Amino acid sequence: MATNPSVDEGLIICLSGPSGVGKGTVIRKMLESRSDMRHSISMTSRPPRYNERNGVHYHFVSRDYFEELIRQGEILEYDEYMDNYYGTPAAPLREAVAQGISVLLDLTVVGTLALKAKFPHALTVFLMPPSQAALEKRLRRRGTEDDEIIERRLAVAASEISQAVNFDYVIINDDLGSTVDKLSSICTAEHSRTERMDKKITRLQEEFRQYTKSGESLED
Ligand code: 5GP
Repeated sequence: MATNPSVDEGLIICLSGPSGVGKGTVIRKMLESRSDMRHSISMTSRPPRYNERNGVHYHFVSRDYFEELIRQGEILEYDEYMDNYYGTPAAPLREAVAQGISVLLDLTVVGTLALKAKFPHALTVFLMPPSQAALEKRLRRRGTEDDEIIERRLAVAASEISQAVNFDYVIINDDLGSTVDKLSSICTAEHSRTERMDKKITRLQEEFRQYTKSGESLED
């Protein structure tokens, strides 16, 4: 990823978990509390729900256009979920990360694992419902899908949950505030990971070089 050498790259944080677990709400709350983050707006061939706006919730496009962008390499990862394409546009994510802005993504499990294969430093976080009943209740309360779609979403959820072990972190979303705190702590800690401190370590090593050159012992 092309970076400005004086800027530390932002994090790529993939949040996954079954439909209805609350990924969207968690992301919204994270963005309210952290100014160093942005949401990656996905592209989808699914039609908008009554309360969704193009360019805000998703970029809504046709299947043909989506496939054209895949061919052009403009989609970093994509998945087909319940007969519709969902994918991450490449350019906005690359630009944000290069500017030191961290990007939060809301992805299917397949999409998360594909992105992790491309960007091994990406953080993968699985959001788990507190129970099957809680997830079903949330899907029904949302009122945006009919019964048959809810049943299909629950079936997909079962297979998604079995993939949680392949993620870096798992958070059980039983309390929104506590979930956001945990996710925020994970992101803060990640900034101090040794691999991410390379530039700062090198700069400090340079500053201290005169001492090691003049034969000072590294021991006390
Ligand atoms: P929904 O139709 O409920 O908005 O989203 C369905 C599923 O697609 C959710 O599990 C959501 O996480 C996932 N999704 C949304 N955007 C993307 C994306 O860009 N890539 C992938 N792989 N999945 C996405």
